[in-house]
Amino acid sequence: MTILQQLANALAQRTVEVVDLTHTLESRIPVIGLPPQYRQTAPFALDEISNFDERGPSWYWNNFSCGEHTGTHFDAPVHWITGKDYPDGATDTISVQKMIAPACVIDTTDRVKENEDYLLTIADIEEWEEKHGRIPAGSWVLMRTGWSSRQYTDAFLNVREDGGHSPGPAMDVPTFLAKERDVVGFGTEPVGTDAGQAYAFAKPFPCHQNMHGSNKFGLSSLTNLDLLPPTGSILITPPLKIKRGSGSPCRVLALVERGLQL
Ligand code: MN
Repeated sequence: MTILQQLANALAQRTVEVVDLTHTLESRIPVIGLPPQYRQTAPFALDEISNFDERGPSWYWNNFSCGEHTGTHFDAPVHWITGKDYPDGATDTISVQKMIAPACVIDTTDRVKENEDYLLTIADIEEWEEKHGRIPAGSWVLMRTGWSSRQYTDAFLNVREDGGHSPGPAMDVPTFLAKERDVVGFGTEPVGTDAGQAYAFAKPFPCHQNMHGSNKFGLSSLTNLDLLPPTGSILITPPLKIKRGSGSPCRVLALVERGLQL
């Protein structure tokens, strides 16, 4: 049997399961707010064209609109000033080979319960590697936090007077992952890949700055990370093929072998 025949059998027998890591796109999905001097992203909106009525008796369909960075979404390198010149860094030019890749899931749920601003450290990553092995080149690193349970509530953006409060990578982690581990990207559960307070770091927005500066990707607003094993799953993450798109909402799927220890 070929590898793909084995995979087809495993999917049919559900020994390989498909897990949906995506929140549903709807108008109440929260979008990030920027300081007032900057232009803001639009929320997701549906405009019904027809619904089996005088506007179209046999068909239902909608127009939809949203920013590229809405809901569960993919960040392309050209999203950030440090990645703007990569010829293969936009949604239409990224190699499709990179849109299917293994995932390493680092669980920080307990630490985030105690501290909403928890920052994943290199020490956390090295501790994870002692148990699960070195992060393979070309993998996603996903920071599991439990944050997705806050979706559709104010506690998701968790904005206070000094901005958003949500977990993310510590300042030196994105460079470590990009340069020392050659990951394909970094994924998180909150609204963006950087922590809510990352604007105030000595080097602000380290994930955007350094991952995209290294031609790496981001995934944010992921859910169901508790259904993934620490290693052994494969993510399918194709963004929409928008001409020079900086990202797009993404139906993020994971292939998981049943019986792998969660
Ligand atoms: Mn984004």
